[in-house]
Amino acid sequence: MIYKRSSALFEEAKRYIPGGVNSPVRAFKAVGGNPLFVKRAKGAYLIDEDGNKLIDFISSWGPLILGHAFPPVVDAITAKAKLGTSFGIPTEIETDLARLAVNMVPNVDKIRFVNSGTEACMSAIRLARGFTGKDKIIKFAGCYHGHSDSFLIQAGSGAVTFGSPNSPGVTKGTAKDTLLAKYNDLESVQEIIDANKDEIAAIIIEPVAGNMGCIIPRMEFINGLRELCTQERILLVFDEVMTGFRLGAGGAQEVLSIKADIIAFGKVIGGGLPVGAFAAREEIMAYLAPDGPVYQAGTLSGNPLAMSAGLAMLTELNNNRGVFQSLAEKTEYLHMGIAKVLNNHSIPHRINRFGSMISVHFTKDEVYDFDSAAKGNNERFKAYFHGMLSEGVYLPPSAFESYFLNDALSYDDLDFTIAALENIAPKLADIIV
Ligand SMILES: *Cc1c(COP(=O)(O)O)cnc(C)c1O
Repeated sequence: MIYKRSSALFEEAKRYIPGGVNSPVRAFKAVGGNPLFVKRAKGAYLIDEDGNKLIDFISSWGPLILGHAFPPVVDAITAKAKLGTSFGIPTEIETDLARLAVNMVPNVDKIRFVNSGTEACMSAIRLARGFTGKDKIIKFAGCYHGHSDSFLIQAGSGAVTFGSPNSPGVTKGTAKDTLLAKYNDLESVQEIIDANKDEIAAIIIEPVAGNMGCIIPRMEFINGLRELCTQERILLVFDEVMTGFRLGAGGAQEVLSIKADIIAFGKVIGGGLPVGAFAAREEIMAYLAPDGPVYQAGTLSGNPLAMSAGLAMLTELNNNRGVFQSLAEKTEYLHMGIAKVLNNHSIPHRINRFGSMISVHFTKDEVYDFDSAAKGNNERFKAYFHGMLSEGVYLPPSAFESYFLNDALSYDDLDFTIAALENIAPKLADIIV
């Protein structure tokens, strides 16, 4: 494949945009090389600026669950744009999307729209603090909840007492209120709670994690979290920015049969436009301005263009619930195909899969948290990523990202992908680990 025009565009972008990108993972730092620039996309395919056609397993990092340029979404946006894109005054379509989302998602009465998953998680935590009157939160190493200060925290020297900033610009003052536990390790949560009695407002978690590859929660862990939260008057915040409207119409709460207290949304709920949201029961949402004292606002929040995309997307998912099963079956087919090739070539690997989320880790050990995910062999991952790209398959350019299948992918596309892996497998097997 030729990437001449993409390379030139990247050089030009770097003159004006830090790193040439508006979100770091796009820059290919984890895999080396230069990113592709996309010209257009349709269904399961990306067409880059050099005219290469690629099968897309990112789906814009999740939102495009029905494929690129899905006609009902495109039609809805086009029609709305002609009527004005934002007013800062209420519009009917905000209620239409709110009603539909609240009806699809279990355990929520009201929803507030924002413009990104970051905003949704940030606001959910503020609401939890306001509601409980407590300051500290627990998050899990390897879970991503957007780039607001409270979440850019790593394990400090004494993880039980303090987190520490993992980006310059995050203050120690902020970091001390975020405590870090280990995914799938209920004891690590219990220890933190014991050491911070009556100080914890919320536990925030990706109920199925997608930001350290795909990590599946053990049922005793996630059920145990629910029990601990109830006992200790801590709000359980499910960050369903990835899983919401992807694992099922009711998201992870529905498929895991667990009630969270506040749910954060993003990605699919915007149908490819910038939308985030957070939702909860009435008693919690009553704390939010203007009904209650917890402040939160947004100039472009709930704008009709974004709402029209979200409404078209959720309407389709609500009316065609078989799509979640169809996606899960495609993902299982891909899993089996990849596993067969890697096994045939004796390449050690672990594949984690849940619904339409899947990731391949080049390690022989089980991958169940951040530390076990970090054991994956990155040289092999880089060769895998670039090898697949050269075959026309676009995978996430980092071992710490889940793939997001979209329903435009056909079984022919999946067979093509598995055949591509077969083509590059001898090279992967040769990499010295
Ligand atoms: C993508 C993501 C976010 C952040 O959403 P943005 O729209 O990128 O701000 C938060 N949480 C999870 C689980 C995500 O995957």
